Amino acid sequence: MSIANSEIQSLTASQFERPQKFAEFCNNGGSPLGGLINGQTVAGTMNATFETIDPGSHQTLATVCEMGAAEVDAAVRGAQNAYLNADGTGWRNQPVEEKIATVMKFVELCERDRDILLACEIFDGGKVSELAEGDFGQIRACAEYFSEVARRIPMGDGDSLEVGPGVHGFSYREPWGVVAGIIPWNYPIVLTSWFIFPALLAGNCVLIKPAEDTPLSALYMGKLAEEAGFPPGVINVLPGRGELTGQFIAEHPGVRFISFTGSPGIGQHILRTCDRHGTRMKREMGGNGSAIVLADADPIAVARKIGRYTNQHFGQTCCTIHRVFVDRKIADDFIDAQRDFFQTLKIGYQADQGTQLGAVINSTQQDRILSAQQQTSLRGGSPLLSGGVAEVEGRSGYYLKPALFKTEPEIDCNPSEVFHAFATICPVNDAEQALTLANQSPYGLGASVWTQDIEQGVAISKRFRDGTCQVNCHNQIAYGLPYGGQGISGGPGAGVNCEETFTDYTQVKAVYVSQYDA
Ligand code: NAD
Repeated sequence: MSIANSEIQSLTASQFERPQKFAEFCNNGGSPLGGLINGQTVAGTMNATFETIDPGSHQTLATVCEMGAAEVDAAVRGAQNAYLNADGTGWRNQPVEEKIATVMKFVELCERDRDILLACEIFDGGKVSELAEGDFGQIRACAEYFSEVARRIPMGDGDSLEVGPGVHGFSYREPWGVVAGIIPWNYPIVLTSWFIFPALLAGNCVLIKPAEDTPLSALYMGKLAEEAGFPPGVINVLPGRGELTGQFIAEHPGVRFISFTGSPGIGQHILRTCDRHGTRMKREMGGNGSAIVLADADPIAVARKIGRYTNQHFGQTCCTIHRVFVDRKIADDFIDAQRDFFQTLKIGYQADQGTQLGAVINSTQQDRILSAQQQTSLRGGSPLLSGGVAEVEGRSGYYLKPALFKTEPEIDCNPSEVFHAFATICPVNDAEQALTLANQSPYGLGASVWTQDIEQGVAISKRFRDGTCQVNCHNQIAYGLPYGGQGISGGPGAGVNCEETFTDYTQVKAVYVSQYDA
């Protein structure tokens, strides 16, 4: 078999030194970093702090104040006031061009402080520079896309309809008011951007609850938001643990809408909590992505490409490939090539030149992944690479080796999301069998089919039970197309990054008007 493209590498680190300004931000003059509430930096009434660490070295980066019920309540009240003041002014009623101007000023400030935000992603998030730089580009791309959508989608009165003699009605679209974004640790800048820009440009005021493992980028973005001129209360940042700060947000009836990104279990829990007081919620959750490789594909080139996607952010990417179904005719070559790809990944510190597989985010994740590797064997998967702990000289991070298993159609050894460079490869008889197996998963975030026959590929891709269906590519995201999940991976609605995302941050009422004939 020919190797169509021998240059396919995993995302790779360039050497990245800590900028002095990042160290100064983290040090904060010797005080813990506070939350941002109604334009004020606050330490919080709980007097509780937590440390955020570099997962590749276990070094403490910063001490952060944890926000409690009082701070959540103050943030909600501040946001309500900023949304609509007693005199009828407020963020809601600012003309869209003024909102866009403030948003774009904020984007420019992010670009001015690019190195600090990159340092947040690389050191707090444990990410390699190549990926962090790509993530950083999402700030502008997302802001520009939703600015254009905000100009196009009319708020306020819709078309009028005669509904009876002397009675007419019309729809009325308005923002929710106070909305909260609950963000996971794996893509802090991207997911904060995907939340705040559509929410703000639709006229809402926001509460950002960053993940406790990666609070730094949202806290820094909060500082920049103030400098950009967002009025106090429009953007609030509430660091803290999920079961505490996050739970207080979910329980607060003043939050009208929650945008959650994270694991299905937590998403379901928050939904049950906020539904009790009528707060709406959209959920973007985990996946266990599949790839189908047809007999006409080049097994070696495709194995390497799939390996790259599987290892995006060391496999800690929600939509990526962890289940491969490959035609038996090419399975041996595919397996050899994928094992080679994973074996040659350079394990190391995420800010050292050449690293392709860095540490996972925390000890809980490390234990979960190790346990999943063992469970896959116990469920009948045959180890091609059995994983386990990796050592990186001079570093004491949460390092793990990649794991790869061969399985068979009747063996269900990979039922849940394993957030690492981990995959099972199952030889199949044909595309129908592959599709049946791929669609058996309760998740439904991302899937792809790999073939020279584009027409057949498109036909198969449309039959995936996933929000993002791809042919000869994976982990694709474009503004203007929905990115969301089916099954336990997400819903309701289309997902993020499309027009429907913008309207998710609005509500529509009907207004009926009758002549006064009493
Ligand atoms: P997680 O569900 O543990 O936490 C996500 C957020 O929820 C965090 O901010 C956490 O503090 C908060 N939280 C936890 N308990 C809470 C509670 N009781 N009330 C309110 N908030 C609470 O997820 P994670 O481990 O941070 O992130 C990884 C998960 O996110 C994976 O499943 C991944 O696939 C998923 N993810 C999905 C997408 C997507 O777009 N579909 C994107 C990125 C990550």
